[in-house]
Amino acid sequence: MDKERIDEALELLWLLHEEDHHSLNRFRLSSEDNDVDAITLAMRAEGLVVIHEDTIQFTDKGFALARGLIRRLRLAERLFTDVFEMPDDTVITDACKMEHILSEELTDSVCTFLGHPPTCPHGKPIPRGECCKKYKVEVEPVVTRLSEFEVGSKGRIVFIVPKESSRLSKLNSLGITAGSIVRLLQRSPSCVLQIDETTIAIDPEIAKEIYVKKAM
Ligand SMILES: [Zn+2]
Ligand SMILES: [Zn+2]
Repeated sequence: MDKERIDEALELLWLLHEEDHHSLNRFRLSSEDNDVDAITLAMRAEGLVVIHEDTIQFTDKGFALARGLIRRLRLAERLFTDVFEMPDDTVITDACKMEHILSEELTDSVCTFLGHPPTCPHGKPIPRGECCKKYKVEVEPVVTRLSEFEVGSKGRIVFIVPKESSRLSKLNSLGITAGSIVRLLQRSPSCVLQIDETTIAIDPEIAKEIYVKKAM
């Protein structure tokens, strides 16, 4: 059985599980595979899923495989969007190929390079890797939290991951939004930044939720 077809099916199942859908029928209807039943049987034969009545669940082996695929896919999306600044439709197609070819070592390097981003550009969680646990700044990441950004430096906001979603619109109204160019003026006791001609002070806790890429 084609490995890529199985990979695609594992990814789909992960997405459905994220939305709390465990139904086998839902999985079959959502699949774009020409022969979803054959794929389902192959996944079961390889010990990747268990099927019980109308539910389909990952085995530990299947879960680990799918987790790795999703991690690579979402990191690739981040890489293409934030670093290469590619348009969204190209990102999806290319990221869809990347997850099949990135090795584990390379994946952790990409993750470190990006500053261990918690979510993909669509706001979906990126499964954590070993590199995220032992998060040390060995290689200077391209994308860093504003709270760790160098005072005096200028950067472009690449993404914001607020703990409370209501915060996002408040930040937006201050001009703190993805794409804005900011200069960090001060880190503590409050974080002071400059956007265009405006100087804004924000809570250092909020500065941890803003990810910036150093402007060249
Ligand atoms: Zn995504
Ligand atoms: Zn990481």
